[in-house]
Amino acid sequence: MRHADVVVIGGGPAGLAAAIAARQGADRSVLVIERDVKLDGILNQCIHNGFGLITFNEELTGPEYAARFEQRAREAGVDFLLDSMVLDISNDRVVTCVSAGHGLVQVQAGAVVLAMGCRERPRGALNIPGFRPAGVYTAGTAQRLVNIEGLMPGREVVILGSGDIGLIMARRMTLEGAHVACVAELMPFSGGLKRNIVQCLDDFQIPLLLSHTVTRVEGEKRVEAVWVSEVDEHLRPIPGTEVRYPCDTLLLSVGLLPENELSRQAGVELSRVTRGPVVNESLETSVPGIFACGNVLHVHDLVDYVSQEAAVAGAHAAAFADAQAAGRELAAAHEVPVEAAGGIRYTVPQSIDPARMPDRLTVRFRVGGVYEHRAVCVYLDGERILRRKRDILVPGQMEQVDLRREDLLAHGTLDKITLTLEEA
Ligand SMILES: Cc1cc2nc3c(=O)[nH]c(=O)nc-3n(C[C@H](O)[C@H](O)[C@H](O)COP(=O)(O)OP(=O)(O)OC[C@H]3O[C@@H](n4cnc5c(N)ncnc54)[C@H](O)[C@@H]3O)c2cc1C
Repeated sequence: MRHADVVVIGGGPAGLAAAIAARQGADRSVLVIERDVKLDGILNQCIHNGFGLITFNEELTGPEYAARFEQRAREAGVDFLLDSMVLDISNDRVVTCVSAGHGLVQVQAGAVVLAMGCRERPRGALNIPGFRPAGVYTAGTAQRLVNIEGLMPGREVVILGSGDIGLIMARRMTLEGAHVACVAELMPFSGGLKRNIVQCLDDFQIPLLLSHTVTRVEGEKRVEAVWVSEVDEHLRPIPGTEVRYPCDTLLLSVGLLPENELSRQAGVELSRVTRGPVVNESLETSVPGIFACGNVLHVHDLVDYVSQEAAVAGAHAAAFADAQAAGRELAAAHEVPVEAAGGIRYTVPQSIDPARMPDRLTVRFRVGGVYEHRAVCVYLDGERILRRKRDILVPGQMEQVDLRREDLLAHGTLDKITLTLEEA
């Protein structure tokens, strides 16, 4: 049995930023356990630029962005266990992993940070009729084949789903010589960022078909065509609207799911909306001493926000580990629930203790539809403390508001914090 003050599970951008923060201020042992043979997570395959504008005020590729954090983590003295898959976390924070080099390893952690990222929703979750021919890939698998393995999945492509990875792969496949016939999106709006729609579809004249879905995949051994139909307001295909697109490849970009099997095993409460852990203002889950950040907590649009959030989780995990080591009791919490209303789907965190929060606390959220000319409002019980006008809010873009500790403390006894949208 090894010991580490803070164990971080996952060596992607979230895990690296959490580990760096956990090393700051004291000589704590911080161990990152990563199942891959290398660090940096999914950013290894994101070779396009656009990363780091907020953090570094520069446009970097995914690997460049991640390399800066990896270097900082190494300089900070973080320990790494690579090629090691975490299998279990007990609720007294014993982390069990299996490692190619070390066999079965158990680590007693003072605190744990969950940073396992997310995975893509596969075809099986979609119920598309047809055989199971070759040529159907998730967009992330295609990204890996093209950018890391140097393989082209196909030449004539249809993409289902307009999440960011699908949009980026539409451009990537085109640049590599494939023809992308269309991107079909079930919803009446895109799930991706506006900048990706412009730079990845519009600039290459790739049509985006909103309120459309794939209703049939043709071909037994290899995809030969897909049928795309328009859907009604209940998202049901409209008979007679089918169009057949001859193609050899169907890419799926139909959502990301936080990777939470370990969290569930550890008894962490999960949100039905984000599918990630429910956390308080310290990004601590319902199990004391287990913290969460990055895409395992909720799916992010920009990696810069992943790094910011992870630094918060890492710092709080370190404080928890310090208290444990010193045998200090942490002050009892009075956590006030944060309610998402009026078109806001969820918030992270889902509860806040005003006494423990920092002077300014960032609350991140996403909306459930497209909203124009609205105001994002924050209420403490019935009292409005914040109203911010927005021209447009879309589901593909993560939003945030900053709450001030002095406002929450000044309110006195508080039962509920509400984030809502109102007419501007
Ligand atoms: C296919 C794909 C493509 C993407 N492309 C873009 C893009 O182009 N632009 C963009 O801004 N964002 C993109 N994203 C979003 C991107 O994932 C996030 O911005 C960021 O990488 C999230 O960081 P993370 O550390 O939370 O997760 P990840 O980068 O996914 O890192 C999680 C790490 O945890 C490890 N891990 C998981 N389970 C275990 C376990 N049990 N034991 C040990 N290690 C474990 C994984 O191997 C991985 O290294 C993409 C996401 C995906 C899934």
